[in-house]
Amino acid sequence: MQKYKTKKRFGQHFLHDQSVIQRLIHEIHPKADESFVEIGPGLGALTFPLLDIVNHLDVVEIDRDVIKRLEQRNNSKLTIHGVDALSFDFNQLLDQSEASKQKLRVVGNLPYNISTPLIFHLLESSSIIQDMHFMLQNEVVKRITAKPGSKTYGRLSVMVQYYCDTDYLFFVGPESFNPPPKVDSAILRLSPWQEKSLQAADEKQFSKVVAQAFSMRRKTLRNNIKKLLSAEQIESLGIDPGLRAEVLTVEDFVKLSNLISNKK
Ligand code: SAM
Repeated sequence: MQKYKTKKRFGQHFLHDQSVIQRLIHEIHPKADESFVEIGPGLGALTFPLLDIVNHLDVVEIDRDVIKRLEQRNNSKLTIHGVDALSFDFNQLLDQSEASKQKLRVVGNLPYNISTPLIFHLLESSSIIQDMHFMLQNEVVKRITAKPGSKTYGRLSVMVQYYCDTDYLFFVGPESFNPPPKVDSAILRLSPWQEKSLQAADEKQFSKVVAQAFSMRRKTLRNNIKKLLSAEQIESLGIDPGLRAEVLTVEDFVKLSNLISNKK
């Protein structure tokens, strides 16, 4: 096959390090009859090791040239969806596995330029997802898994942790890719809560209050959300209005959001 020229605009950094691939497959621990979907299969670094194990694999890939190459491999277990993953409706995959009532397992070495919007898009379908394993920029994995009080804890941590249990699995250096990216990478596991112990009455409101609370990182909660709640109202929840958002737990944000919803 002709040598493939990678495209920057699609964030193409292909994984070639067999030890990373094997370690990731081990962490995923796929079983033959599970419903897997891979985002951005590229030339198949993860796709083919997965296909060795699973009975069927759906992949979502935007690049026509990559799709042609995957098609040439003629693998009857592979279904290729040639679309932008950001607008792909993942619910359509569940219909096919409705008989088994299985949730989706999502995997991908994601293009870093769209990783955050893609995770938010997937969180909209979190009720049909069993888990997600992603290769992402190391900094982003640290932010997503950060705990309250740490420097990297912010809006992204709170939003993702509201929907999912998060795990930083392992670090991956640039030399594991071709071409090597300028940044370090890491593997993230997201497991949507099967039963949420925290429930915002209005999730749009929750997202709004979290965004507002972190809008100016150095300011206190009282200042950042004064248009939504007074200092007295914040205090009535047992939360000190003089604190900064970065020390609040996800539960605190749910309480703030629910108080605003109740006021309406
Ligand atoms: N999985 C392969 C690997 O590990 O070697 C490729 C990973 S590469 C970092 C990202 C892949 O996502 C590329 O194949 C790229 O074409 C694809 N991609 C980029 N943007 C996409 C999008 N919006 N929707 C679907 N696939 C996309």
